[in-house]
Amino acid sequence: MAEQFRNYIAGEWVAGATASVNRNPSDTADVVGEYAQADAAQAKAAIAAAKRAFPAWATGSIQERANILDKVGAEILARRDELGTLLSREEGKTLPEGIGEAARAGQIFRFFAGEVVRMAGEKLASVRPGVDVEVTREPLGVIGLITPWNFPIAIPAWKIAPALAYGNTVVCKPADLAPGCAWAIAEILSRAGLPPGVFNLAMGRGSVVGEALVDDPDVTAISFTGSVATGRGIAAKAIARMAKVQLEMGGKNPLVVLDDADLPTAVNCAVQGSYYSTGQRCTASSRLIVTAGIHDRFVAAVADKLKTLRVDNALLAGTDIGPVVDESQLDVDCKYLEVGQAEGARLLTGGERLQRATDGYYLSPALFTEASNAMRIAREEIFGPVACVIRAKDYDEALALANDTEFGLSAGIVTTSLKYATHFKRHSQAGMVMVNVPTAGVDYHVPFGGRKGSSYGPREQGRYAAEFFTTVKTAYTAA
Ligand code: NAD
Repeated sequence: MAEQFRNYIAGEWVAGATASVNRNPSDTADVVGEYAQADAAQAKAAIAAAKRAFPAWATGSIQERANILDKVGAEILARRDELGTLLSREEGKTLPEGIGEAARAGQIFRFFAGEVVRMAGEKLASVRPGVDVEVTREPLGVIGLITPWNFPIAIPAWKIAPALAYGNTVVCKPADLAPGCAWAIAEILSRAGLPPGVFNLAMGRGSVVGEALVDDPDVTAISFTGSVATGRGIAAKAIARMAKVQLEMGGKNPLVVLDDADLPTAVNCAVQGSYYSTGQRCTASSRLIVTAGIHDRFVAAVADKLKTLRVDNALLAGTDIGPVVDESQLDVDCKYLEVGQAEGARLLTGGERLQRATDGYYLSPALFTEASNAMRIAREEIFGPVACVIRAKDYDEALALANDTEFGLSAGIVTTSLKYATHFKRHSQAGMVMVNVPTAGVDYHVPFGGRKGSSYGPREQGRYAAEFFTTVKTAYTAA
């Protein structure tokens, strides 16, 4: 019988109303475990526990908070191999990617352990003589955290750690497809010395637990990462009841390759950025915008490189690309392969379902050429190992194409020209701009987020996280 994993509410481990089976996408016979599914009543109990815990946590010892977060970070880092293996097993990214992500989660907790004692305000002179002005940050209350499956440890970490660091209490609802890593963080938090109710894990369906968080007046703020459609629905409901809301959503990120690019750098950025983690990254470069002089050499080199990549079980040494996360995402990827060809793009290589020793959702990395930026494969987020090459006549056209999208998360350029690199950094309409590095792959101590349809609300991560997880108070005192 599969191992059972319960929800964590008010300091207790509790069975869900039902349970869902978490399967390994590299080997569908392998069950990672059965994970509790809360119903609306259990979600409400988690919110109530977080509400009760808030006043004492918000005003308690900041040294205690810092110690707890530091301890959690240290344990995650010490167990990075084991947690990374769990991640690869439940989500399908390769073992080095899984271990790297687990380490990042540990670093995030440690970073916010430091932020607890660095939280600063401002003291200003008043324009009125004899009055002092202070600007301070205060916690918000109960925060609902709703996370996706594709970064199942880093994203819960980068929401939980700042929420707790700044004195909030939390109800975390991870994705149904990969709840195991968030459960592991909850288990570590449960032993770290947190008062009951400060952190609660409510695994379950988005339409049940997610909606309960979004609708409950006791949840002061919602931090969501996931798809555009879900995010828009959440924002509409949260704003209607005046809850604070932060959304990180999809991308259709461009990588511009100019004639003067170093070819190996361009190929590396394209292959890493478009296909690693099976292309299932919001920051993946799914549009390769390439100027005419380097186009044919670049396409040939990328296609050659793709043929050398090993697509296989994520847990095997030597695997470059793991499986797609599940059957329905695989169907989406395959549908877009048909759409792209029907639109007139050329499927140069890849896009084949692969059989491996274990039964999983394997797809070879697909490269379209002769694509136009008007095609659906260039406009809609596919979220799989599929990229398209769009030819541009020069830098100006490439920049215009890069910005011609409803999204604005990450954008990259490969060039040896300081002039174009500088211009691109200034004129790209993305929240994150990369020069000679892949569009995916970011640091944990600086802001993360996008513009236009990709993001809504303040940035996540780094010290900018305080903008979402705190509210500002201005106090006047007669001197
Ligand atoms: P999703 O929108 O299907 O689900 C995200 C979360 O929302 C899950 O926990 C889900 O259960 C929950 N949810 C679903 N319906 C809900 C509802 N009605 N009310 C409240 N919660 C609900 O997204 P996904 O498939 O898990 O993740 C993939 C998407 O996430 C992609 O679009 C990707 O680009 C995006 N993503 C964005 C970032 C970023 O930072 N911009 C990072 C990673 C992933």
